[in-house]
Amino acid sequence: MHDLNDDIAKILISAEQLTRRIGELGQQITADYRGKEPVLVGVLKGAVVFMVDLARTIDLPVELDFMAVSSYGASTQSTGVVRILKDLDRSISGRDVLVVEDIVDSGLTLRYIVENLRDRQPASLRICALLRKQKVRAPGPSIDYVGFDIPDEFVVGYGLDYAEQYRNLPYLGVLRPELYRGDQV
Ligand code: 5GP
Repeated sequence: MHDLNDDIAKILISAEQLTRRIGELGQQITADYRGKEPVLVGVLKGAVVFMVDLARTIDLPVELDFMAVSSYGASTQSTGVVRILKDLDRSISGRDVLVVEDIVDSGLTLRYIVENLRDRQPASLRICALLRKQKVRAPGPSIDYVGFDIPDEFVVGYGLDYAEQYRNLPYLGVLRPELYRGDQV
């Protein structure tokens, strides 16, 4: 049987490190939103694993909602032109919204989502990203809560996929380069 672990060149962030850091983020969010009932907006599908773990570390009444987006065009490079495949179930007007993202690379996808959500007049809008790639690129939206800054490598696991695989690995790893064409981001 195919063991997914064999496809990983190295573990970048272990399950234990993820648990510890997400607990810290949850404490910080709990303190910052004290007295409020934020709506966590997850971006499908990559953010799902992070979102459900993060939500359980937040000691406040929270609502969970999800959006699914896809980039226009055939390019594997992010263009920032995004189509909404699934919209939120409920209005966020007047709500405190925390967008939960798996990884911010160029930030173009996130910028589109944030601009779209801002038009709906939330009371506040902040961003929490598990991973931020350290790249010198056009500045994207500022991120209020960052789990880890990571090098510019293609990572999988903990919700992140390659061709829809590896999302269920409990850690974040770097895929063995011979397994992909290197054109996914
Ligand atoms: P951005 O618009 O910030 O350039 O692209 C962000 C999206 O690209 C993420 O939501 C994710 O879907 C994808 N992405 C960027 N870097 C990686 C990576 O290292 N691994 C995986 N699996 N997806 C990535």
